[in-house]
Amino acid sequence: MAPDDGEVLRCPLCHWCGAAWANVECRPGMCVRQACPNCLCLPRERLIWRLIIRLCNTRFLAAASNPSGLRVLEIGGTDRLGVRARARYDYKNADINPFAAPVDYLILRGRIPLENSPFNIVIVSYVLCVIEHARDRVRLLKEARRLANVGSVLIYFDDLDLRNLCHVRLPKGAFFHLWRFGRPILDELRNSGWQPTPIWRERGLASIGAATELPYVLCTAG
Ligand SMILES: [Zn+2]
Repeated sequence: MAPDDGEVLRCPLCHWCGAAWANVECRPGMCVRQACPNCLCLPRERLIWRLIIRLCNTRFLAAASNPSGLRVLEIGGTDRLGVRARARYDYKNADINPFAAPVDYLILRGRIPLENSPFNIVIVSYVLCVIEHARDRVRLLKEARRLANVGSVLIYFDDLDLRNLCHVRLPKGAFFHLWRFGRPILDELRNSGWQPTPIWRERGLASIGAATELPYVLCTAG
């Protein structure tokens, strides 16, 4: 989404400022101007970074008061966010795709190879939409919950249309993912031990080019 007239675009990750985002392929053969020209981060990554900083200043003030005291686990993330998060927090990443860029933990059969080491913040970003079956999505979300404490926060991004009463399977080959999720995704989150709150509105998203990410979902670990 374009900013208001005269508004400067800002990347909170690398502090780039300018007038236009760079092109990025959002669907096979289709580009949109959404990437930071400097660090190449995407809208959701800029928004996630801002959310982490906000959580550090509120809910996790104590944990974040000592360097690397805040524990962050990102499932499905890339080093665009990770390289900066790693420099500031106790950040780990994980992926279900063995052919993706190297990560700290490869998830096999829904299992993250970590024993009791709870994270303050878990990020699940555009991962569930590539998982075919609800039972496997719930298994991954339960695994994320296992690695969180009561009060930990899940930041959840995906292809969401929460006005829909069912999930929509996307045309084969038209997208990089399988599903556009409707409201039942909130039940999948609840059934996995998370209490979801959809975020429909948020101020200041135009300047970081992230208004396209609404709605997203914040969850607390129950
Ligand atoms: Zn940037």
